[in-house]
Amino acid sequence: MPPLIEPFRIKVVEPIRFTTRPEREELLQRAHYNVFRLRSEDVLIDLLTDSGTAAMSDRQWAALFQGDEAYAGARSYYRFEEVVHSLTGMPYIFPVHQGRAAERILCALFGRAGTVIPSNSHFDTTRANIDYTGAQAVDLPIPEALSPTSDHPFKGNMDVERLEALIHEVGPERIPLCLLTLTNNTLGGQPVSLGNIRAVKAVLSRYGIPLFLDACRYAENAYFIKLREPGYADRTPLEIAREIFALADGCYMSAKKDGLANIGGFLAVRDAALADRIRQLLILWEGFPTYGGLAGRDLEAIAQGLLEALQEEYLYYRIHSVAHFATALRRAGIPIVEPPGGHAVFIDAARFAPHIAPEQFPGQAIVCALYLQAGVRAVEVGSLMLGKRDSRGVHIAPPLELVRLAIPRRVYTQSHMEYVAEALAELYSQRHSLRGFRLRNEPPFLRHFTAELEPL
Ligand SMILES: *Cc1c(COP(=O)(O)O)cnc(C)c1O
Repeated sequence: MPPLIEPFRIKVVEPIRFTTRPEREELLQRAHYNVFRLRSEDVLIDLLTDSGTAAMSDRQWAALFQGDEAYAGARSYYRFEEVVHSLTGMPYIFPVHQGRAAERILCALFGRAGTVIPSNSHFDTTRANIDYTGAQAVDLPIPEALSPTSDHPFKGNMDVERLEALIHEVGPERIPLCLLTLTNNTLGGQPVSLGNIRAVKAVLSRYGIPLFLDACRYAENAYFIKLREPGYADRTPLEIAREIFALADGCYMSAKKDGLANIGGFLAVRDAALADRIRQLLILWEGFPTYGGLAGRDLEAIAQGLLEALQEEYLYYRIHSVAHFATALRRAGIPIVEPPGGHAVFIDAARFAPHIAPEQFPGQAIVCALYLQAGVRAVEVGSLMLGKRDSRGVHIAPPLELVRLAIPRRVYTQSHMEYVAEALAELYSQRHSLRGFRLRNEPPFLRHFTAELEPL
């Protein structure tokens, strides 16, 4: 086993800014207790997301200079296409400016009122795009996924029996596609096993329903399969990734995750007729099919990043350093979702702050207190992000109240992460003083991004 140290050295540095607690109190109040409204300059360590926040390698920066910015037929597109094709085996590959653009196109083609789109768990933008078309997004995680203490090795798996029951209940003609999110971000960055992907595909094939992958974290998922699924220990992450994609009819990806890029994504399919329809919407919404809303240099950076994300030294460090951080939290007694995911550690806010009711956002209470305490920005994944209201306006809580500490790729050192762990340990020792929040306004879609809150 290689030593658990950063498998890179640092060539460029970016200073981070220290603030005082009184400054943070004022900043948070001005942000209406919504950390999405904070300026990044006012954050010391930013664990809001692992999306688009990766540090690019020297080779990616070098690749940027090779960007061909031609409107049509750019060399950069063909390099990008070659890499995505060799990874996914899909013949039709469309760049998009980020993952949700691919979701929008897919939903426009497949979603409409009366249809149902099942997933292991839909990501928030996926769900919003499905809702927007009038279709219904249904999550079918395995029961273990909803238990923060279960250490099932593949908590990202879909419940195959419930999938089959759903198909019987609504009828296959009303299920235009099924999505598997790799890894399952919403329920803790948990991986899906190849065995599960195969079982899902087998059920769908019987009913002629296509399988699509939301493959944002395909490399992390592939590495978990190598570590945990019998028979894969000697396979390379690339071989495993290819085996995953071989089971799908199509896939999309935000390159802001395992693409190790700061922007971009793609949509890839096997079916020529579907590709024609995608191409039309792509031209309408994103751009000509060989740049799809990106600069040629972005395509170069993504092509290089997709390959780097599959390097074993990188994945070893990535997965084990996240687990190491989780160990520090566990030692302090902090309840986390077990086992830790690939891109993030999730705190179980319901157990951290059981005195705060779901409708008073226990996760958000922890997020705000962590910022005040240490200048660290995390994100709530619970009642604020995923909660709903019934027709009488009564809060419907999601199954879990979580706080996500997402770890940007190749950005923070282990000393930064030790600092975060110490701050959380301190906060946990004072957890009884945490207070809940109330919503002051509520945008109709993806409310957590812009909502204003006030402390109770
Ligand atoms: C980030 C993400 C998306 C959306 O991608 P964007 O690039 O942010 O638009 C979709 N699905 C999952 C699982 C994600 O993590």
